[in-house]
Amino acid sequence: MENLENLSCLRCHRELEAGHKSVAVYMFAQTVGIRPRQKSAAQRICFCPPCSVSLAMGPPPEGALNLAAWQMIRDLVSSDPALNVAAWESLRGIAGFLPATGTDDTPRRTIASGYFEF
Ligand SMILES: [Zn+2]
Repeated sequence: MENLENLSCLRCHRELEAGHKSVAVYMFAQTVGIRPRQKSAAQRICFCPPCSVSLAMGPPPEGALNLAAWQMIRDLVSSDPALNVAAWESLRGIAGFLPATGTDDTPRRTIASGYFEF
């Protein structure tokens, strides 16, 4: 079962509520050339914008799956500055005060929820 309400960034564990800016990596497995064809449930892995940019700018990770995800995130980060802007907004601590474009039908978060957890 996928829990859409309590997703958090895989790297920094920051909570990502619905409507928050993030990068979602979907993954599923499926049999090929075997009958009956089987397909696993899809997994959704999320990264917050700063972690996405940080990962993309960093060196390639170990492992084939990590490398595949890294290349996909690099593709997103390098193709349009929007994700970099989102990361910048997050660093500035203003992301929580700006509505997510067109998707903001969730209750507004309060300042008390905080972006930084030391
Ligand atoms: Zn993160």
